[in-house]
Amino acid sequence: MQFVSRSGWGARPSRYALAYIGSTRGVKVHYEGSPVPASLARPENHSQCAGRVRDIQASHLANREEDYSDIAYNAMVCPHGYVYEGRGAHKKTGANGNQSLNIAHYAVCAMVGDSGLTNPTDAQLNGLRDAIEWLRSSGGAGSEIKGHRDGYATSCPGGPLYAWVQRGAPRPGGGGGGTPPDGGTARYTVTINGLTYGYGANGDQVTKVGQALVSKGFGRHYSEGPGPTWTDADTQNYADYQHSLGLTGSDADGVPGETSLKQLLGYLPGGTAKPVPPFPGSDKFGPGANNSFVTALGNQLVKRGFGKHYTEGPGPQWGEADRLNVKDFQLSRSELRGDPDGIPGPLTWKLLFS
Ligand SMILES: [Zn+2]
Ligand SMILES: [Zn+2]
Repeated sequence: MQFVSRSGWGARPSRYALAYIGSTRGVKVHYEGSPVPASLARPENHSQCAGRVRDIQASHLANREEDYSDIAYNAMVCPHGYVYEGRGAHKKTGANGNQSLNIAHYAVCAMVGDSGLTNPTDAQLNGLRDAIEWLRSSGGAGSEIKGHRDGYATSCPGGPLYAWVQRGAPRPGGGGGGTPPDGGTARYTVTINGLTYGYGANGDQVTKVGQALVSKGFGRHYSEGPGPTWTDADTQNYADYQHSLGLTGSDADGVPGETSLKQLLGYLPGGTAKPVPPFPGSDKFGPGANNSFVTALGNQLVKRGFGKHYTEGPGPQWGEADRLNVKDFQLSRSELRGDPDGIPGPLTWKLLFS
């Protein structure tokens, strides 16, 4: 499971203590119920997902009619398969319609809507399944998987997602680990030296593997990319590469092992944390600033998932988007929340780069 904790996505604190719940009959699946842009599902737009969860939390906290104490859901799942901790396990949801429904089931919401992105991605279905299994193992959820509309008059969770719920909420492709019995493409992840590889993994390390595969002549399964989200094409190309090394069976299922990865790249990425670059001084930032530190700041904000205000890539010219993104980051950290002015000081810099 690719899990993003509350601190990981920059949750605001609950308005008041969330009600503890020991166990439930199961989990109810929700959708956003409003338009979700289809472009959100593109791999490069995963950087927007944490901001989306923050926006939903903010809208729920502002909803005085429902008087929500927090984001209504126990978890949210983005199109890239990441599970965002909402209220979390053992917390009563506010999403199912009324108190007795809220006590009976947890609530997990997928980032799909009633227009735009209406069909969940395969990675998202796997993420929903991850969230359900997490609530079972960590929150005492029972075996039921239902939709919001079961028991309450609503269109939620939308046609495509509800059809999946009615089929028993299966993992796509039948895989949850290992190579599917039908000889399909392996869909599981491994962590090597602190970085994740395999179906649904996301990050620079994935792009680097794809580029190395292409440069060694193992790119025939790509119709686009390679990019930062690991797809079936990455797995298939990696399997070709493994076969070229003489590997067979589960050693050649397209999910990297340490030895083949090191051989492909010439080194093993990850592990050692990069040193924090020295803080250049607050005078390098703010209106009128134009220097390489502004670019470095922007790139790091995007990398950490705080890039939602950029309409074009970060650059050397300081802009309002830089300030708003820095502010989001500051609000996400308790150490910085007292002074979210959007201008980086030494502590903001240190926390952002470490
Ligand atoms: Zn719902
Ligand atoms: Zn995402």
